[in-house]
Amino acid sequence: MTLKHTMSGVKLPFSHDTERALAETAALVNTVGLDGDTLVTLADFDDFLARSPYSGVVRRNHEELESIRALRPRLRNFWTAKDRDEAAALVNQILDEADARPYLARHDEWDWHLHVTRPDASLADRIAAEAAMAFLDLIRTDELGRLRICAAADCEDVLVDLSKNSSKRYCDTGNCGNRTNVAAYRARKRLQRA
Ligand SMILES: [Zn+2]
Ligand SMILES: [Zn+2]
Repeated sequence: MTLKHTMSGVKLPFSHDTERALAETAALVNTVGLDGDTLVTLADFDDFLARSPYSGVVRRNHEELESIRALRPRLRNFWTAKDRDEAAALVNQILDEADARPYLARHDEWDWHLHVTRPDASLADRIAAEAAMAFLDLIRTDELGRLRICAAADCEDVLVDLSKNSSKRYCDTGNCGNRTNVAAYRARKRLQRA
């Protein structure tokens, strides 16, 4: 390390790349949950790729779909990791398996930015490595607490809290915040009537 270490107290915002990768990783993990699985068929896969377009080779076949589905429990592990050490080990394992080697790339409308896998690496490896690089940012800034499970009683979806005051409690997928508030309101009404 030749650069002077200049970590300041200012921890947010993360780079755009990191924020985007975290949001996309959460969206992928949340394709399976208590309310079912929305990444099952090739048509589902097409929808997923339309929502999260990836540069590089995309095969859109069953084998690729299965490899992406299999990533979900592995990536969820970051939300349930008991500490930074466990999360760091997961990052290192993914980067190793994806044969990650950082380089700068410039493509489409994107100016120079970091890539860690070659465009012809498998889509699962590329998604996993991109997620790992984002988790790496959370680990080195000691912000893993930004990864949360939805606070609604009937939801286990994951969320990434990038708010300045660290106040986000519900996932984006369902209507969990509203639903929980309505349930609490009804419970209060019941108590008042009783
Ligand atoms: Zn790129
Ligand atoms: Zn939720």
